[in-house]
Amino acid sequence: MIRGSPYAVAIALISSMSLPMASAGEKDVRSVQLALTIQLDPARRSLNAEAELNCECSGAVTLSLGKRFTADRIMVDGSPAAFEHKSKDEQQQWRLQLPKQTARHRIELRYRGELASLAQADERGVLGGLPPMASERGTFLPAGTGWYPELGVDTFSYRVELELPPEQRGLVAGRLVRESSSQTAYRARFELEHPIEGIDLVAGPYRIEQRALTVQQSREIALRTLFHPEIAELSSGYLDAAAGYVERYSKAIGPYPYTGFSVVSSPLPTGFGMASFTYLGVDVLRLPFIRATSLGHEVLHNWWGNGVYVDWPRGNWCEGLTTFMADYAFKEDEGEAAAQEMRLTWLRDFSALPAERDQPLRAFTSRTHDASQIVGYDKAAFVFLMLRDEISQDAFDAGIRRVWTRQQFHRASWTDLETAFEESSGRDLHGFFSQWLDRRGAPALAVEHASWLQSGARYRIRATLTQGELPYRLRVPISVETDRGTEQQIAHLDAARQELSFETQGQPRAMTIDPTLRVFRRLDPREIPPILRQVTLDPAAVTVIATRNDEAREAARALAQRMMDTAPRFGESPPQDASVIVIGLHDEVDMWLTRAHLPAEPQQLRNRGSAQVWTAQLSNGKALLAISARDAAALQALLRPLPHYGRQSWLVFDGAKALDRGIWTARAVSWRFE
Ligand SMILES: [Zn+2]
Repeated sequence: MIRGSPYAVAIALISSMSLPMASAGEKDVRSVQLALTIQLDPARRSLNAEAELNCECSGAVTLSLGKRFTADRIMVDGSPAAFEHKSKDEQQQWRLQLPKQTARHRIELRYRGELASLAQADERGVLGGLPPMASERGTFLPAGTGWYPELGVDTFSYRVELELPPEQRGLVAGRLVRESSSQTAYRARFELEHPIEGIDLVAGPYRIEQRALTVQQSREIALRTLFHPEIAELSSGYLDAAAGYVERYSKAIGPYPYTGFSVVSSPLPTGFGMASFTYLGVDVLRLPFIRATSLGHEVLHNWWGNGVYVDWPRGNWCEGLTTFMADYAFKEDEGEAAAQEMRLTWLRDFSALPAERDQPLRAFTSRTHDASQIVGYDKAAFVFLMLRDEISQDAFDAGIRRVWTRQQFHRASWTDLETAFEESSGRDLHGFFSQWLDRRGAPALAVEHASWLQSGARYRIRATLTQGELPYRLRVPISVETDRGTEQQIAHLDAARQELSFETQGQPRAMTIDPTLRVFRRLDPREIPPILRQVTLDPAAVTVIATRNDEAREAARALAQRMMDTAPRFGESPPQDASVIVIGLHDEVDMWLTRAHLPAEPQQLRNRGSAQVWTAQLSNGKALLAISARDAAALQALLRPLPHYGRQSWLVFDGAKALDRGIWTARAVSWRFE
């Protein structure tokens, strides 16, 4: 996941996933091997294919293929087959009757079809589920889109013979057995022996750079970049970075599970991590921070997601673990301050998430919008952090390696992870996993009362802590400021209201619960500086258009549509118990704020640039978001950039350019002893 970047919203970094298609009837289909011979002409968007499926199967089996393809021959064991043909949604299906006795059979199918264009794919959007598409700029045939025939099994192995025009190069996951190019064609053959969930195929006018990386007892891994010519010079930087990540995670988890890793550029703003390669937009690859962040995340998906598969109906743990071991780990590499800032961002986002949009972590399967990311990526990563704090770094590392050796190329659920960490730590972790996975929400920690007494040469603190009605079992760091410096304690809580008693060396002055944010909890509103997202994620937020200018009104409405995570609700006055967003021109916004008795524009933003955007805390606990522009054009100019700055408290724009921005400062909430 790319965080804090202006592109964060445009890029969906999710692992490639394909849900197996259901097939009906009495049947037995096992151990499927698919052999595909593909001829692809990106300019004409044509695909010609021959497929051979070898399986141990019996009874009425169902063969599925996308509707955009026409099959002109179906054979079973070398003879033309009898079948029933029907269409269902985007699929067509052939029902074939095989003998009742399970045996090895060979099903052959020849098919061809026209692929979607780049423009059609672009229109659908990267998060909208891309169709199989082709163009001279790039071809992407995603798994699960019906571009190869399926027998309704969970996983299968394959080999692919790929033929492209001579100026094109292409790739699927697996060992590159051979490749050749002539004046008439480029040909490559790939083999994947272990079972996998689906096949993603990419092709484009690529320049290929390659490097051999030796890891673990002289095993060689082929690192490659397949880049569009205009970014070919970025290749060596990406190869260096990829080598570093493959080594890092091979050491931390277990041997890299594929024979190669490729970074492939895409004409679309994609950010996908597939088995043995990552598919990133040309413009994404140009961003300087991608090598240091998202690339590591995508490499790690070869272990989590494409090495150990997700047991989808039982919840997706892989984004959280990948975020923890990549994005968050890189912040820890930078230092504790950077790591703490990331924890604050996660907790702040969670605090901004309205209760009705929260869901138990176990219910998360894939990222569909910001709200699901806050739970499925951020909360999940936080749970792994608390687990490591709870069971120790060594037990955590051992648990990670246990998951890997036991579940490689199999599906794993949260329960499988729980078992591995219980074994590595020798602890019963059922309560821990259950409270974080099966409940929505989070504890809200507070000091109800605290006092101290002198006890010999030392001091004894007695405190009452509360954490909300349904208590969690928590390990909570407490820091006490004393006349001799800061002293640290760990408290173990398991009640809604709990008495604590502990000694300090110095005379206590102030006490702070979880001062460095190591517990996933609802922050005290005073701890949270308001940011744009707090308002844009609130489905009850009311948008007020504060201008009479027709052109500006139109720009303001469009801006509200772009900014809000759900459809905007327009109104005239601020609501009682929701956030408010006011959009308009300078004088009219000032006037509306005065009339509504809301805080005025902060002095530090006044008269700067062509537009100012700011948040403020409201007395109802919600927030104000104000967008004030010089004229309609200045409002219009915010349409593209502004939605990318959800994590800021205030911004100043000159046209579409953000001149300045920032987050209002937060303050820790401490109990002060008299
Ligand atoms: Zn991911």
